[in-house]
Amino acid sequence: MRLTTDPRTVSGGTAETDGAWLACSGCRSLVYRRRYLRLLNVCPDCGRHGGLAAATRADQLLDAGSPAEIEVPEVPLDPLGFVDQRPYPHRLRDAARDTGSRDAVRCYRGTLHGQPVVLAAMDFRFLGGSLGTAAGEAVTTAAETALDEGVPLLLATASGGARMQEGALALMQMARTSGAMADLDAAGLLTVTLVTDPTYGGVAASFAMLSDIVVAEPGARMGFAGPRVIAQTVRESLPPGFQTAEFLLRHGLIDEVRPRAELRGFLGTALAVACGRAPADWGAGTPDPVVRDPDSLPARPAAARVDLARHRDRPTTLDHLGRWLDGFVELRGDRLGADCPAIVGGIGILDGLPLLVLGHQKGHGTRELVDRNFGMATPGGYRKALRLMRLAAKLRLPVLTLVDTPGAHPGVDAEEQGQSYVIAECLRTLGTLPVPVVSVITGEGGSGGALALAVADEVLLCENGIYSVISPEGCAAILWKSPNAVDAAARALRLNAADLLRLGVVDGVVPEPDGGAHQDPRRASAILRDAVISALSRHRTTDPHDLVRARKRRFRQLGAADTGTDRREPAR
Ligand SMILES: [Zn+2]
Repeated sequence: MRLTTDPRTVSGGTAETDGAWLACSGCRSLVYRRRYLRLLNVCPDCGRHGGLAAATRADQLLDAGSPAEIEVPEVPLDPLGFVDQRPYPHRLRDAARDTGSRDAVRCYRGTLHGQPVVLAAMDFRFLGGSLGTAAGEAVTTAAETALDEGVPLLLATASGGARMQEGALALMQMARTSGAMADLDAAGLLTVTLVTDPTYGGVAASFAMLSDIVVAEPGARMGFAGPRVIAQTVRESLPPGFQTAEFLLRHGLIDEVRPRAELRGFLGTALAVACGRAPADWGAGTPDPVVRDPDSLPARPAAARVDLARHRDRPTTLDHLGRWLDGFVELRGDRLGADCPAIVGGIGILDGLPLLVLGHQKGHGTRELVDRNFGMATPGGYRKALRLMRLAAKLRLPVLTLVDTPGAHPGVDAEEQGQSYVIAECLRTLGTLPVPVVSVITGEGGSGGALALAVADEVLLCENGIYSVISPEGCAAILWKSPNAVDAAARALRLNAADLLRLGVVDGVVPEPDGGAHQDPRRASAILRDAVISALSRHRTTDPHDLVRARKRRFRQLGAADTGTDRREPAR
């Protein structure tokens, strides 16, 4: 029996057959080596994800037998003639001998669930995964190969930061690799980062964080400054779990945390959505249930509509998406410090069509409603929405938004963080997004917080949904100065389906089961799905310039002199 103090020193690519045992460097428990390798180098006792050699990472992530190494051009070694306690070339030589690699990054072509990808994998054992000219060359080569071949780029990061022994040339690799990432953005190619422990400094602050999707292994730490430097500078102890994957997710900096065993599934789904194509006749044959004649809609008192629109048992955005989508990948966070739970979004496949979805999320029970802030989004929520809108434009994915909010979150913090600006930016971005956009007001369409997600080519309203510049309560308080005037305000605001259809604010109304969507949520969801598919199929093949022009015209006309707005008595 042989003991190794750190499983990181094991190369998982070659399972040994001598029955050696390993000691986990997290919990110290002994693990049978072959079992450890079978578990993808994850400790069965404490879940610690051990570091991996680049080749092992490629074997674990890509389809069996598919990884083929990409040759990276050689760069001049030791450009500064650097010597500290030892000459830099000696350190390079030892690292190469210990890892079997020329530097800290190796690149592979391969497939993941059959989808071609380019992978650049970092090896922390090579001088702490530090980013020098060779690593910069490798990441750039990987990105350029992905660009040339028109395939997604996958980055598995592990690094202490820029390599000191290469001075300012190491620093420049941050800009060099970021430029290569920008080229992939311009080409509309998906980029994904897998953050592994640890990812710091120049790698975190360049290509690692620039990917469309960032997923981390549990416990993986990522940050710009290391915890020791921060603790010494601020002279305070750091919060537990500081800079871990779970901390990063909570603060909206990454999309997801997944254990190693689930990574292939997660990445495969993301690739399937980003690279999938719907057939030319997608949506044909789906019946369109949408009502476009306001007079054919059932009458109902305005106050009753308001109650129905707010009913807790109406299907929520996540209820609908759960029923409709294959392979939904929720994307979280604004990358700027927040993940607002009142707005959810992600990519998925609707009946064969890859698309990006965004929506307000309320909840059914009190606990969920509180956790989701009753669907009232903070500026972080709208910044997340903006990030995803831009991702849709990049990947040329149609956008579906499901709107259900009393309004944007009113609060001191929301004002400090620029609530007005982010809502305005959503209106401008969605209004000019060069992909089809379909919006449905599924429940409450409350004011600017709703419209921020509803500047669309086609705007639908569920039969018992409402859409209004202010809540009837707010309107009654301000204009009637009386809480007893809520019914009058609800009528006067013309916030119901028939009136909104006459005003041209919505293009169609989606019928609900008798008594309202809450009476039969499954059927309500099925009807809405057909409506959404019909609407998307009408716009999805339109030229992007024509889409944006028509969308602007649609909103340009609303309230303009010649709309022929029907000013009849509001429906009662
Ligand atoms: Zn352990």
